[in-house]
Amino acid sequence: MEFNVDKIRKDFPILSQKVHGHPLAYFDNGATTQKPLQVTETIRRYYEEENASIHRGIHYLSEKSTETYENSRETVRKFLNARSTNEIIFTSGTTGSINTIAFSFGEKYVSSGDEVIVSEMEHHANIVPWQMMCERKGAKLRVIPFNEKGELIMEEYGKLLSDKTKIVAINHVSNTLGTINPVKEIISLAHARNIPVLVDGAQAVQHGKIDVQDLDADFYAFSGHKVYAPNGIGILYGKEELLYDLPPYQGGGDMVDCVSFEKTTYNELPFKFEAGTMNYIGAAGLASALDYISGVGLDNIRDYEHSLLEYATTKLMAIDGLEIYGRSPEKISIISFLLDNIHPYDAGMVLDKLGIAVRTGTHCNQPVMDHFKITGTLRASLVFYNTKDEIDRLYDGILRVIKMFG
Ligand code: PMP
Repeated sequence: MEFNVDKIRKDFPILSQKVHGHPLAYFDNGATTQKPLQVTETIRRYYEEENASIHRGIHYLSEKSTETYENSRETVRKFLNARSTNEIIFTSGTTGSINTIAFSFGEKYVSSGDEVIVSEMEHHANIVPWQMMCERKGAKLRVIPFNEKGELIMEEYGKLLSDKTKIVAINHVSNTLGTINPVKEIISLAHARNIPVLVDGAQAVQHGKIDVQDLDADFYAFSGHKVYAPNGIGILYGKEELLYDLPPYQGGGDMVDCVSFEKTTYNELPFKFEAGTMNYIGAAGLASALDYISGVGLDNIRDYEHSLLEYATTKLMAIDGLEIYGRSPEKISIISFLLDNIHPYDAGMVLDKLGIAVRTGTHCNQPVMDHFKITGTLRASLVFYNTKDEIDRLYDGILRVIKMFG
């Protein structure tokens, strides 16, 4: 399939606007991605033609809406290559998915003296829910360190795994360092000891094909808004046999079978984990976004983004005083960097005046900042609608920043 970035950019009207008199160069895709017309059109059509609460009515619109919701679940199942739609739970996002498992798994399986393994490069969303659970249960959080290139130290991981380990929670791709972690190996080492693994895929699903069966992941989480879909929708994949045994996370409508004041029984999978009126329009938007990127081709996306990463890395590394954090050869198109003696906010503000949107700060990765003894970075996260021309503008913008502050 042919990949044509000019054609693709026409699907994203927001990209053609001017910011402070300059064409927008949007490099904040790690925080959230822009939405193609196909997705906004799906949402508009839903509100205009189909809107009704799912699973509760026998009237025409409710049945139609329910059918769309369940078809969206099937689209996600196919996208992840899960075995069954019972394994696909709609949530509010990666944070919602991780909290669901941290709570539910913790309630069922974790007690005093047990351990949970995370890594030093986790997003706060894959630290804090486990920490809260550990506090509740008297368990301990153990941390896999990373080396100076931003790669997990696998020997240390091997040493942390023990009979006390109840679960491992690891990101597939780091949102600051860009590192693609060896999750398949991490999972197989844990499985050798019968320990389940949750993978935070928030920065992975938008960059290449994910196959949960091939990874043998027990749980896999991602957010719609980072994969060209609307905000407020996300996915928790879980192996059916594991989800079956877990207690529900939240109580409310739809997740129940029979309710009485004496005893309530719960609905079957996946509904047991979907309490309340779900974001069914977001689910339709997510399915539409997944269809869109599947249409562009996930291999095309991976190859094109890799070429952008190589081009940008070579250009930026040639700038005197610019340091890149995260230099693993296994990396997606995220570049975190600092300019000698220049505060990232100052640099980010000047770039913004040139129409260039980068993220500045800790990126919800304070332990990563502590590792490098820095207070934050600038981060340019590139996706398949970015261009080499935009990277040239970033390069020129950085030279301008250095001239002003350096
Ligand atoms: N994990 C990673 C690796 C992320 O990059 C993010 C978002 N920056 C999250 C988790 C949390 O995602 P959300 O805020 O969409 O729930």
